[in-house]
Amino acid sequence: MFTMQKRPVPSVSGMVEERTPKQLVVVGGGMVARRLVDAVRSRDEAGAWAITVLSEEPRAPYDRVALTSYFTGRDPEDLALGSQDLWDDPLVTLRRGVAATALDRGTRTVSTSDGRTLAYDALVLATGSYAAVPPVPGHDLRGAFVYRTIDDVADLRAYVEHIGKERGRRLRGAVVGGGLLGLEAAGALTALGVDTTVVEFAPRLMPLQVDQGGGEALRRLIEALGVNVRTGTATSRVVGEQGRVARMDFADGPGLDVDVVVFAVGVRPRDELARAAGLEVGERGGVVVDGACATADPSVWAVGEVACIDGRCLGLVAPGYAMAEVVADRLLGGQGTFPGADLSTKLKLLGVDVASFGDAFASDPGALEVVISDPVAGVYKKLVMSDDARTLRGGIFVGDASAYVALRPMVGRELGGDPAAYLLTEGAAPAGALPDDAGVCSCNNVTAGEIRCAVSDGGCTDLAGVKACTRAGTSCGSCLPLVKKLVTSELEKSGVSVSNALCEHFDLSRAQLFDVVRVQGLRTFSEVIARHGRGRGCDICKPVIGSILASLGTGHILEGERATLQDTNDHVMANLQKDGSYSVVPRIPGGEITPEGLITIGEVAREFGLYTKITGGQRIDLFGARIEQLPQIWRRLVDAGFESGHAYGKSLRTVKSCVGSTWCRYGVQDSVALAIALELRYRGLRSPHKLKLGVSGCARECAEARGKDVGVIATDHGWNLYVGGNGGFTPRHAQLLAEDLDTASLVRSIDRFLLYYVRTADRLQRTATWVEEHEGGLDAIRAAVLDDSLGIGDDLDAAMADHVDAYEDEWAAALDDPEKLRRFSSFVNAPELPDDSLAYVSERGQPRPATRAERAEGAVLIAGTTLEVRR
Ligand SMILES: Cc1cc2nc3c(=O)[nH]c(=O)nc-3n(C[C@H](O)[C@H](O)[C@H](O)COP(=O)(O)OP(=O)(O)OC[C@H]3O[C@@H](n4cnc5c(N)ncnc54)[C@H](O)[C@@H]3O)c2cc1C
Repeated sequence: MFTMQKRPVPSVSGMVEERTPKQLVVVGGGMVARRLVDAVRSRDEAGAWAITVLSEEPRAPYDRVALTSYFTGRDPEDLALGSQDLWDDPLVTLRRGVAATALDRGTRTVSTSDGRTLAYDALVLATGSYAAVPPVPGHDLRGAFVYRTIDDVADLRAYVEHIGKERGRRLRGAVVGGGLLGLEAAGALTALGVDTTVVEFAPRLMPLQVDQGGGEALRRLIEALGVNVRTGTATSRVVGEQGRVARMDFADGPGLDVDVVVFAVGVRPRDELARAAGLEVGERGGVVVDGACATADPSVWAVGEVACIDGRCLGLVAPGYAMAEVVADRLLGGQGTFPGADLSTKLKLLGVDVASFGDAFASDPGALEVVISDPVAGVYKKLVMSDDARTLRGGIFVGDASAYVALRPMVGRELGGDPAAYLLTEGAAPAGALPDDAGVCSCNNVTAGEIRCAVSDGGCTDLAGVKACTRAGTSCGSCLPLVKKLVTSELEKSGVSVSNALCEHFDLSRAQLFDVVRVQGLRTFSEVIARHGRGRGCDICKPVIGSILASLGTGHILEGERATLQDTNDHVMANLQKDGSYSVVPRIPGGEITPEGLITIGEVAREFGLYTKITGGQRIDLFGARIEQLPQIWRRLVDAGFESGHAYGKSLRTVKSCVGSTWCRYGVQDSVALAIALELRYRGLRSPHKLKLGVSGCARECAEARGKDVGVIATDHGWNLYVGGNGGFTPRHAQLLAEDLDTASLVRSIDRFLLYYVRTADRLQRTATWVEEHEGGLDAIRAAVLDDSLGIGDDLDAAMADHVDAYEDEWAAALDDPEKLRRFSSFVNAPELPDDSLAYVSERGQPRPATRAERAEGAVLIAGTTLEVRR
């Protein structure tokens, strides 16, 4: 085992010489090698080690995980990992385009492809893997590619562009392998305009990460995006014409005409140097190492994908980083050991969320699986619980992975309550409840306690500081929303003012971003991040920018790139319910509805078997719709004159009203007419949080207007205006902003209040907290809204006029656009729906989801979605 003592090192010529600093040679310039160099240099204050990195690829280590983004940005520098400073360090030498060709353990030297020999005191193999190619005939034809390096991707793109021009038609391509890499490659081919088929030998996609149910959901989602999927299919050969790929044949089933093939069937560890040098390799390859990542040779270590630890090679970057940390620690005299692999994954493949964590396949025989499944909509969520249903063991999410970030750290802990409730976004564990030892960032092995400590003891005052200090969120980034929550709550606890930067990709706050997007007329996320941010965006900034673009009326929320920015509900313009079905909520302005309107809603509910309820917002919600039914239901409603109620959006919901002076003996103003006018005026207005308004016709307040974001109460002389009520979890009464306004002044004041809030509030900040936290509080808002103290009144008035003019019903527009309807059309590719896949019972004359006990007793089953429990 390596020790910290200086020791004599034999030179190439065999002479013994003492060297300071000692020589560390790292073979391989990949992601894990970079982490190792960084870890050594950041801790080796005495300069005990000089490091040489041999990198066969002609560039510095880059973010291979983000390789697919190279299709959109053509500059390899966009994939750079960390700062160039590391490579400028005098104790670090990066030799690009130089491979290690042989290892002589006797003389402790390594030969390189440029004919040199390097002596080492310690050598770390970080050679990663190569992409496997199945030995089928024709695998080496021109037009057949693998998908591992920047050069692979550049070659693939150049080929597609070249033959696309040459053939003058849309190309057809196949990806062999339906795992993580295969779907990445399919996304890349599709983005290049190639009609793509994924061919997978296993009976489902991503067989290593998701189970049968998850695989089915994933398949439908992928197919809905225009990618063909053939599972249970073995490729027998690739047939060429004039030396170029032309067709693929399969062991069974018809062949496929293709112009290009990408093999993504897995990886094999690059252990050739180690084998030749007599080091032990694992049964399925990989350099065998112990818990210290050391081989049997005390001078040789192995890290990352090439290392075979506990009998297997690990194909994810997080365990590789953990190994790099262990070796850095050991080289500097520590006793670090590999903590074990967390193989959790969360990915967005072709825009589809897929996540799996912990014991996702319920390997413990007593494990209980709680599944929410809508195979048609492509939403599948599973939690694996201990046999007493208390402790979380793992889970799988497909289509909606919003609960993953909060649930993954809870593995091995008691969840409390009904596990099914945690499959709902709102049911996920809040950051405050996370115990200190819960792992938050699995890529970098950072716990909730370490993040809290970085704030409370480490002096970090923002997300960027915590990231730099702990590395949390610096790799795949999927834990960032949770890290941000922890940082904010810890800063608030210590009374420190919290940085208002939106996230790591933008230094600007939401309000600042709103301004620049508005002033510069930006219309897409790509433009915004190119001009004002960095990187590729995250789960924090994407929905915020989606909402800003929608507030500014830049077009339909499902138009082009904007569709990928939306939250789960906006994505399908409906609200996902507990059992995986959706609700339909037509707008009923002011709660006023004609008998014909009521009859239409009743008929639709009866025809589609929907549970029907009049809600607190004075409208009628229809529950239990399947995703492919949504366009049919909305067609009926739109034809009858209804429009979207935006129940899914962070936008205006309803304007509630009492009966008003027309009918009520006490009413002093026509609250119904005003409520309808306001609802029609502000419908579709996207905002930082959902908005509700209320109008009461007299001081008796039957519309409970003071419990709303904006409340209007009639007086003998006009209207009193209240703002900042509601408050969500913390109920608030709205406060008086102005008294006895005439109707025109009232409407202008509400216009200005709402737009001022929309432009300046923080992400997910309700009007109540916005008013409280606004500098100068309600008085300053009053001055801005009523007296135009900021000089923005005309601008706000013009913006509201634009909003009113530009309004179009989102559902009507979607029904007229086949492209937008594709996301609801997964049923086109679906086989017959299972008749027994949705468990409902009849209660009070309506369907409702069956409870677990009812299902166990054989509840009535209706086709559609499933909430099932299996033992
Ligand atoms: C498209 C794609 C998407 C991925 N997505 C994810 C993901 O979402 N999450 C995740 O955790 N992982 C993902 N991975 C896997 C992840 O990239 C790897 O686990 C990680 O890169 C492994 O790092 P490494 O340093 O061990 O090997 P590598 O990054 O492969 O680096 C090894 C380097 O060593 C070089 N080398 C090999 N032999 C020699 C030699 N003899 N001399 C000199 N140099 C040599 C190689 O050329 C290579 O540059 C993805 C991989 C790909 C290709």
